[in-house]
Amino acid sequence: MRIVDMRVTPVAVPDPPLRNSWGIHESAFLRVIIQLYSDDGLVGLGEAPGGGATARALEAIRTLVIGHDPWQLEPLRVTLRNARLFCALEEACLDLIGKATGRPISDLLGGTVRQRVPYAAYLFYKEAGDDEWGEVLSPEAMVGLAERWVERWGFRCLKVKGGVLEPDAEVETVRLLRQHFGPGMGLRIDPNAVWSVETSRRVAHKLRDADLEYLEDPCAGIAGMAAVARSTHIPLSTNMCVTAFEHIPEAFRADAVSVVLADHHVWEGLTGCVKLAKVCHALGWGVGQHSNSHLGITMAAMTHLAAAVPNLIYASDSHYPWLEEDLIKGPMFHFADGYLEVPKGPGLGVELDEDKLERFAAAYRERQAHTRDDVTAMRERDSSWLPLMPRW
Ligand SMILES: [Mg+2]
Repeated sequence: MRIVDMRVTPVAVPDPPLRNSWGIHESAFLRVIIQLYSDDGLVGLGEAPGGGATARALEAIRTLVIGHDPWQLEPLRVTLRNARLFCALEEACLDLIGKATGRPISDLLGGTVRQRVPYAAYLFYKEAGDDEWGEVLSPEAMVGLAERWVERWGFRCLKVKGGVLEPDAEVETVRLLRQHFGPGMGLRIDPNAVWSVETSRRVAHKLRDADLEYLEDPCAGIAGMAAVARSTHIPLSTNMCVTAFEHIPEAFRADAVSVVLADHHVWEGLTGCVKLAKVCHALGWGVGQHSNSHLGITMAAMTHLAAAVPNLIYASDSHYPWLEEDLIKGPMFHFADGYLEVPKGPGLGVELDEDKLERFAAAYRERQAHTRDDVTAMRERDSSWLPLMPRW
């Protein structure tokens, strides 16, 4: 099997006004859809973060992709010398291999150890928008949002995107969530490293009895995380200070983290995440899955990965419930009891709806900007806004 053509399509997808430490999600998030065509008439799908820059980078390596055998993943990885571009293409290559062999990607990654995959409710403070969820800018409002998400999708784990309200207000949010949902509910908070080491220690102390699964990236850097880790029994997780295999030795020596959040768009693809999970197991670390705003191709890939990795036992993060329309054919993914069924395949088990792809692609072309810019979106509300880090 050889790749005979590659189509790279940047898309802009409506996004609610979710708050984070950088500012606020602007009205669309950007992804790049990759279609690899094989000489036996198959199409492999991939979805990568980013907009124009990612699309241009993929176009620039077109001559390396055309003619490549999709089975030859490691040769592609060492040829590209660029983890992000490899990640974008590996997903589509695995989809081709799955379609050629009639097997789901979870089988290609080593076999399916679970038929359904747990996800966490990824809760954001937010402004009121065109979405159904309204304004969520207080601890009480966050409990209300969590209640509706748990009722609709049955999530058994809540992840709060923090770093938005004053730290004490976010402590209160966690306290109210624990009080409302009781001891059986998984609970996490992730302020995206916007707290100082001292603030992180103070917050961890206040949350010492909240029974958090973990505290995610309270502060920046391996040294800072290690300093916090020494002062709390709460496990620390990261998708910010350990994002490549080269970061692991220093983080392990410093005892900076207990859980690493895999992301197949970052960790050398789905096959790279399988390797990461093995390393985490050997080091005594847990492994979970990180998420950015994404579409159904990524949703399928994340679910195949979690289905194939025995120690990926933390509920994975996903922005998918914030999505109102996907570009896959048929119904959108639906969480039931907080789980997604593993797509049956072959490959990813999803197909593109070309009409929807064209609509999202047209939305991208109509934009003046080629990157998502949460800072400018925030400055439209507060002209003096600066994404300080640490802020508190
Ligand atoms: Mg995070």
